[in-house]
Amino acid sequence: MVESQVATKEALTVFNQIQELQHEQVVYCFDEATGLKAIIGIHNTVLGPALGGTRMWAYTSEAEALNDVLRLSRGMTFKAAISGLNLGGGKAVIIGDVNKLKNEAFLRRFGKFVNSLGGKYITAEDVNMSTRDMEYIHMETKHVTGLPELMGGGGDPSPVTAYSTYMGMKATAKKVFGNDDLSGKKVAVQGMGHVGTFLVDLLIKENCKVYISDIYEDRLKAVASKTGATVVGAEEIYDIDMDVYAPCALGATLNDNTIGRLKCSIVAGAANNQLKDEVKHGQALITKGISYAPDFLINAGGLINVYQELIGYNREKAYAKAQTIYDVTLQIHKVAEDQKITTQQAAIHMALKRIEDIGKVKISY
Ligand code: NAD
Repeated sequence: MVESQVATKEALTVFNQIQELQHEQVVYCFDEATGLKAIIGIHNTVLGPALGGTRMWAYTSEAEALNDVLRLSRGMTFKAAISGLNLGGGKAVIIGDVNKLKNEAFLRRFGKFVNSLGGKYITAEDVNMSTRDMEYIHMETKHVTGLPELMGGGGDPSPVTAYSTYMGMKATAKKVFGNDDLSGKKVAVQGMGHVGTFLVDLLIKENCKVYISDIYEDRLKAVASKTGATVVGAEEIYDIDMDVYAPCALGATLNDNTIGRLKCSIVAGAANNQLKDEVKHGQALITKGISYAPDFLINAGGLINVYQELIGYNREKAYAKAQTIYDVTLQIHKVAEDQKITTQQAAIHMALKRIEDIGKVKISY
C-alpha cells in the first residue's frame, strides 16, 4: 500500500468513529516544546457550549485515547441534556504520563488550545487533573470551570455528585419499595473516593446499614471508623445480601461476571458507564428483577455544580438543582416501564428529545 493510501485509510477510520457517535468536531492538539498531545472531543453544542473535564492518562495508543474522548464527550451531551442544563457535551484527553509531563508550561499550552476554540469547549477537572492544574489552564483561558472557591469557583463538585446520586437512589427506592425511606436498608457502596465517602455520610444519616469496599485498606479504615460502616472485600461486594448496590469506583462493573451474583433490588451509584454493554446488561438487570438508576442521570450533580460556576456560583442553587434529579429519575422509571425499555434507553431518549426540541426552537430566530 502506498503512503497516501495508508493516510486515507487512517483518516477514514477516525471519521467513521466520529460519524458513528455523531460528533461535531474533534480537535488534535500538539506542542513539541512541552510534549503536549491532546484530543478535544466536541460532541454536540445544540443546547450550549460543550462542557466536560480534561482527563490525563498514559494511553497505550492514540486509538485508545480517541475512543475514550469520543465516548466520554457523548456521555456529557446526554448528562447535560437530561439534567435540563443549557450545555452541550465535550471532553478532552491528554496523552502521557502525569508524573513526567505535567507542569505549568504544559498546562498553559493546553489552556491556549482550549482558548483557541473561543468558548465552544469549556474544560474542567477529571482523572489526574486537580484544581491547581485548572488554575494554570485559567491563566490562558477563561473557558474553564472547577476552580477553587477562593477564585470564585465551586470547589470540589463531589459532594453535589453524591447528593444527586442519593436523590436518584431514593427515587428508585420509591419505585421499588413504594416509599423512598432508606432507613434500615442495606446499601453497599463500592469505592471510598471523593464521591463514595460523601454518599456514605448521607446514607448513615438516614440510618442505612452501609457496606463499603475499596482497594485501599487505609481509605476503608478511615471511613469505617468515622461512620461505623461495615468493610467488605473488593470482590465480595457482588455477593453480599443487600438492597442497593452503589458503584462509585470504576465503570463496567455491571457485566456478565457480576449481574448473576447481585442480590439486590436496586443499582444506583455515581460511577460513569456502569453497564459494560448498555443494551445487553441493561436488559440482564431487568431479567434479574433489579431496578437500575441510569448513571449519567443520577451522577449529574457534579456537572450541575460546575454549571453554576458559569452562571455565578451559588451552593444552595446547585443543591436545589441536584434535588430535581429525584423527579427525573421517577419519570425515567415510569417511561421505561410503560414503553418496556431499559431505564438507560429511556434516559437516552429523553436527553435526545430535549436536544431535538430545543434545536428547533433555536433555528426559529
Ligand atoms: P476517586 O478516584 O476519588 O475514587 C474512586 C475510588 O474507587 C478510589 O478510592 C479507588 O481506590 C476505588 N477503587 C478503584 N478500584 C476499585 C475496586 N475494584 N473496588 C473498590 N474500589 C475501587 O473518584 P470519584 O471522584 O469519587 O469518582 C467515582 C466515580 O464517580 C468515577 O467513576 C467517576 O467518573 C464518577 N463521577 C465522579 C464525579 C465527581 O464529582 N467526582 C462526577 C460524576 C461521576
